[in-house]
Amino acid sequence: MKVGIIRCMQTEDICPGTDDFLAVKNHTGAFAGIEEEIDLVGFCNCGGCPGNRVVLRAKKLVEQGAQLIAFSTCIQKGRDICFPCPYAQKMKDNIRQALGDDVTILNSSHD
Ligand code: SF4
Repeated sequence: MKVGIIRCMQTEDICPGTDDFLAVKNHTGAFAGIEEEIDLVGFCNCGGCPGNRVVLRAKKLVEQGAQLIAFSTCIQKGRDICFPCPYAQKMKDNIRQALGDDVTILNSSHD
């Protein structure tokens, strides 16, 4: 399965994304239960507050073959930046509206 990860732009200075890559490698977190090989086709940020650029980035991931996009844990749970993204649901809704059922969107890439 081809997957992409979108994370919070505000975490980039403090997080190299290691836990995301480990979750993909070990099939844990959002990727638990995926038995087939996971191919990470892209890892990008949301584009910054208030998340208006996230749809373009999701489209690019899908163009690269992503069947599933996981929002990183920093978006959903505020890991590292200490607050959950107030725009998370809006970003997810906008991606869903733009891409329909072409892609599955999951929360919290890693535990
Ligand atoms: S929109 Fe949300 S995920 Fe993106 S930078 Fe702002 S707080 Fe982070």
